Amino acid sequence: MQAELNRRDVLTRILPAIGVASAMAAMRGAPALAADVAAPADNTAGPVQQLLGQAFKGGEYVLPALPYGYEALEPHIDAETMHLHHDKHHQAYVTGLNKALKDLATLNAAPEPNPPLLTGLEEDLSFNGAGHMLHTIFWATMAPNAGGEPDGALAEAIKKDFGSVEALRAQFGRVTLGVKGSGWALLAFEPVGQRLLVLQIKQHDLQLPVGTVPLLPLDVWEHAYYLKYRNMRGDYVKAWWNLVNWPAVSAALAAAARK
Ligand code: FE
Repeated sequence: MQAELNRRDVLTRILPAIGVASAMAAMRGAPALAADVAAPADNTAGPVQQLLGQAFKGGEYVLPALPYGYEALEPHIDAETMHLHHDKHHQAYVTGLNKALKDLATLNAAPEPNPPLLTGLEEDLSFNGAGHMLHTIFWATMAPNAGGEPDGALAEAIKKDFGSVEALRAQFGRVTLGVKGSGWALLAFEPVGQRLLVLQIKQHDLQLPVGTVPLLPLDVWEHAYYLKYRNMRGDYVKAWWNLVNWPAVSAALAAAARK
């Protein structure tokens, strides 16, 4: 058993299982298993790539600052929800991710194997790792005074794979309403078939196909909307479309498709 679980182990062995490491690398325009995933943010990159570039610093994962004020997404998402969601919930996933890595390194250095503990820690790693990445992309793909319609290659891809933007919105709506408990809807790029998919993700990491690149995630955990929308998840989803930063999604698709 190896003495230490380092970042490259995580990138090559564990996070690909949830599709996140390759997704991060692809969106950053880097080789899928490159060790430079924490390189400084590229000022020419899109908002998703830039915020992901702020999600790891000084040898550990960190909470990136929101690219806008907490109140900037009002009236669609209220400032109190943004404070709690970003400062408390997202921070908890960052803390959990770093702790899982530290505990795995300790466990892997122990003289005796402990399969049950290993399984639990790998689940923690998957859950918190995906939580950190999805929330980072979620913040980067929203903006004040956004919404509207996509254009360019993204619009063409949506038309090819869903028929129309309206059809995509309808599918997103069905997926979000179908999430049992906590989860996400996700527009993702599937690089083998070079196509877009809408996926339903349980919690942060379950049912996320290996190799897909997250482009546009929508958090439908209750912490994302319950203060303002209570049990009316559909109203929150409808309002969220007014915040979608389509140019950010276009840039993420362009980076993913280059790979
Ligand atoms: Fe969340």
